[in-house]
Amino acid sequence: MMNRNSLNFSGGPGVLPASVLAQVQQAIVEVPEVGLSVLGISHRSDWFAEVVAETERNIQQLLNLPPNYAVLLLQGGATLQFSMIPMLLLRQRQHCADYVRSGYWSSKSIPPAQLEGAVRILWNGEANGFRDLPQATELSYSPNAAYLHYVSNETVEGIQFHELIGCDAVPRVCDMSSDMLSRPFDASRFALIYAHAQKNLGPAGVTLVIIRRELLEFVPNHLPEMLDYRAHLAAHSIYNTPPVFAIYVTLLVTRWLLYDIGGLAQMDAINRAKAAALYSVIDENAEMYCGHAARKHRSLMNVVFTLPTIELEQNFLRQASECGFSGLNGHRSLGGIRASIYNAMSSEAVSSLCQFMANFARRN
Ligand SMILES: *Cc1c(COP(=O)(O)O)cnc(C)c1O
Repeated sequence: MMNRNSLNFSGGPGVLPASVLAQVQQAIVEVPEVGLSVLGISHRSDWFAEVVAETERNIQQLLNLPPNYAVLLLQGGATLQFSMIPMLLLRQRQHCADYVRSGYWSSKSIPPAQLEGAVRILWNGEANGFRDLPQATELSYSPNAAYLHYVSNETVEGIQFHELIGCDAVPRVCDMSSDMLSRPFDASRFALIYAHAQKNLGPAGVTLVIIRRELLEFVPNHLPEMLDYRAHLAAHSIYNTPPVFAIYVTLLVTRWLLYDIGGLAQMDAINRAKAAALYSVIDENAEMYCGHAARKHRSLMNVVFTLPTIELEQNFLRQASECGFSGLNGHRSLGGIRASIYNAMSSEAVSSLCQFMANFARRN
């Protein structure tokens, strides 16, 4: 019998590894080495300081981060980063920030930046329905830009960059909320990376920010400390009461990635196989399923497709739900179907969804 949680195909909060949930269940009652529920352990305890430190070390190890990068665990979700980044890096600057507008989430990141300074939309995928992404070579970068901002995986539309964009002269800032730790990449090419936990890393409540320390030398002193990365860095991510529970679960997920999966190259191979299985069911049943993304930008995390009619989509969702597949409805802004197959989604669960889809196409 498959674990019910493994059939959570929701775009977020996403599925978590069954082994992590089993440990969390125990920790809610009592963390053995402390003798208290994780929900009641002080954020000023030595135990929690080590939880934060090990989470940072694990992320450094998974990403092979150079020593000049700091790992921060913040609150406010990815949405607060949409504001915090331009407050620190754009306000009072002479030069604009470049934004790639490639879908729902990158579109959300732009208005908060416009409050802080000049924004140049470097590329806009709206006219083409946010189905494709720019090639690195087709973008004309502003060499003096304060930074370049883009979203590595557009969670709603299911499109993902499979190559690095930008130029090294301009700090790259990237929202990796829905594909962080799903594949290896060269973090040293980025100035700032952020990802909330609730899609691929853990529960809602904590947001991972990885920042090149040199970037902080230019930060002006106009912000409340709570919005200043330097305050969080100085406090080792315990500036005020942090989400102890969410951080603890994120620690368990990083251990799972390191010791059960064996690292990001292994995770990537598993993720690629899962995505390939789903996209081939879509391609083999083209009269029933139409993928949203242009082929070369297909996301390995969010597989978005439509059926020929709304009625068929509703039938599909109803029957899928009867078979135990949950969270398959597309984002409210786009409709259609979205199968999110984050790290913790098992290959077995993806296989059974593939079978269901092939059967559904045959019967209808
Ligand atoms: C879900 C999502 C967000 C929004 O995150 P919150 O934590 O709810 O603020 C931002 N960016 C991307 C890429 C997302 O997938």
